Amino acid sequence: MILDCERYAGPCECGREHPLETKMVVVDYGCLNDFDKYMDACGLTGKRTVLYDTNTYSLPGMVHVRADKELVLEAQGLHSEKNMIESIIPQLESPDVIITVGSGTLMDFARYPAHKLGIPFVAIPTLASSDGFTANICSVVIDGQKKSIPMEAPTLVLADLNIISGAPMFLNVSGVADILSKYISLTDWKIAALVSGEYYCERVAGMAQEALDLMVKCAEGMRRGEKPDFEGMTMAQMISGLTMQMLRNSRAASGAEHLIAHLVEMKPPRFENAHGIHGECVGVGTILCAEEYHRLAGLTPKAKPFAPLNPDWVREKFGALSDGIFKENENDVLAAFDAQNIVDHWDEIREIIATIPPAEEIARLYKDLGGKYRLSDIGIDESLKPEVLDISAAIRNRLTLARMRRVLDFGEER
Ligand SMILES: [Zn+2]
Ligand SMILES: [Zn+2]
Repeated sequence: MILDCERYAGPCECGREHPLETKMVVVDYGCLNDFDKYMDACGLTGKRTVLYDTNTYSLPGMVHVRADKELVLEAQGLHSEKNMIESIIPQLESPDVIITVGSGTLMDFARYPAHKLGIPFVAIPTLASSDGFTANICSVVIDGQKKSIPMEAPTLVLADLNIISGAPMFLNVSGVADILSKYISLTDWKIAALVSGEYYCERVAGMAQEALDLMVKCAEGMRRGEKPDFEGMTMAQMISGLTMQMLRNSRAASGAEHLIAHLVEMKPPRFENAHGIHGECVGVGTILCAEEYHRLAGLTPKAKPFAPLNPDWVREKFGALSDGIFKENENDVLAAFDAQNIVDHWDEIREIIATIPPAEEIARLYKDLGGKYRLSDIGIDESLKPEVLDISAAIRNRLTLARMRRVLDFGEER
């Protein structure tokens, strides 16, 4: 099916315009055969450079679209790192449009150069393991720090289900987890809006919810042993990605649970062996947050005065990465509102948390699907569990309930 982007874009009751750079999203079996037709429909003409990696170039069912220049990157060791991405720009040979075929990493290898060169790019995802394909955010490592930088979104996305349905099962399950994380990210956003007056949009939150509901249905079907609904799963990823374009940030799609994935990539002291692809780490983060949020909902907090992160604590937990953490937390969001607001809204917060399924239920689903659900599954020692959310919440200066715990006193030792 073709996703009608117009349906989501345009002036909104929240006061914003919500422009979408993505003109068309096509999710269908064999849609690559009509590639030129969709390019024309989006007005994408001129010299094409098509980017693959050594894996995606020879995938079963791959249709190699017409190219003025093909660039096949060595898949081994390829990751979204600024210098590595910049080094390929000369090899693109000044195209009018970049077409990229692959996973999220390949997307960044097109998004970043397209941004630098001021040209459009087209995404041909080969799997549906995360929701970055329709996003305008580049997740790139700069000087050892993972950064999410807003850039252009693809003008056209073509997800050929003949290719996507051939991806290994664990990638599909990872995709499920990246969307089910919206249970937490939406909770964090709603609570933040309630207590700090942070901007919130019903339409965008509704889209994240639409993606979540669709993916829950697909996951339940898979669990029952039905043939996977690749169209539904891919659509859910695409809709979630569009929320990032509409907000120009990932607020609807990424909350405290996503920081576990950042933690795994950063590998601070004691997390050196952490591993796992994005959705797997996010899935484990979702379960950790679900457990902690439900536990907190059973307690009643008192407000605590704001204090910046303790520098000794930061150095102990982040070692060589500390400088980046200090910089990120310079203007701590916790200092920008009165913590008493959280206490005053606690009953409403409880109601929001009640929309998250119990942690055990989410864990059981991932387990049944053969996915990862424990810290040890992603190379993190279970003994670190009591600290993981404190450490991960320090990675990003975004208002989440996990972070709010620093200005709340639940009458227990922390
Ligand atoms: Zn809006
Ligand atoms: Zn994600």
